[in-house]
Amino acid sequence: MITEQAMDAATITSWMREIETSVRSERDYLVQLDAAIGDGDHGTNMVRGFEAVVQALDGEAAAPPGRLLILAGRTLVSTVGGASGPLWGSALRSGGRVLGDQPTFEGGQLVEVLAAALASVKDLGAAVVGDKTMVDALEPAVDTLRTELAASAPLATALGEAAEAAETGMRATVPLQARKGRASYLGERSIGHQDPGATSTALIIRALQRAVSAAG
Ligand SMILES: [Mg+2]
Repeated sequence: MITEQAMDAATITSWMREIETSVRSERDYLVQLDAAIGDGDHGTNMVRGFEAVVQALDGEAAAPPGRLLILAGRTLVSTVGGASGPLWGSALRSGGRVLGDQPTFEGGQLVEVLAAALASVKDLGAAVVGDKTMVDALEPAVDTLRTELAASAPLATALGEAAEAAETGMRATVPLQARKGRASYLGERSIGHQDPGATSTALIIRALQRAVSAAG
C-alpha cells in the first residue's frame, strides 16, 4: 500500500528543531517537576542537549536520516549529564541504526525506529511501564503508532494518537511510586508528582507529530 508520505533527512532535522523549541518553552516546567522528585536539572539538561543537536545537524542536510539520528544521539550523550542524555542518546542511536543509509523511510519503519529506541531505553534503564519513568510515555506511544498504522490510519493521524497516548501515560505517572531512577530514593514521597522524563518524552513524541504534519 503506497498511501504513506515518505519521510527523509528533513523530517529528522525538523523533529529535532521541534523538540528544541518545545523543551525550551517548557524548560521551567520540567525543572519544577524534576525539583520535586529529582535534582531539578531536567529542563536545563534537555535544552542544552537539543540546542547542541540542532547545531550539530546544521549543515548535515545531505546525510541520510539514520545518520542524523545517530549524530543526534551521540551529541546528547556528550552534552547532557544526568540520566536523560545517555537514555535519549542511546535511544536515538538505536533508532538511527534501524534506518542504515537509506535516504527515505515510511511509517512502518518509523515504528521500528521508535521500537528500537524504546528497547534501548528499557534495556539501559531496566525499566518497565509502571516504574514512573520515560517508558510510561514512550511505550504506549510506540504501541499506539503501530496499532494505528496497522489499521491503515494516515501517518499524521497515527502520530497524533501516539502523542496522546504518550500524554496519557505521562499523566498516569502522577499517582505512581517511582521504582527506577533518582526519584525512587524518595519512596512513597514520589507519589503525587508527574515524572519529568515521561513529560519530556511526551513533548518529544508531540514534536515528531508536528514535524511530520508540517511536511505533509
Ligand atoms: Mg535530574
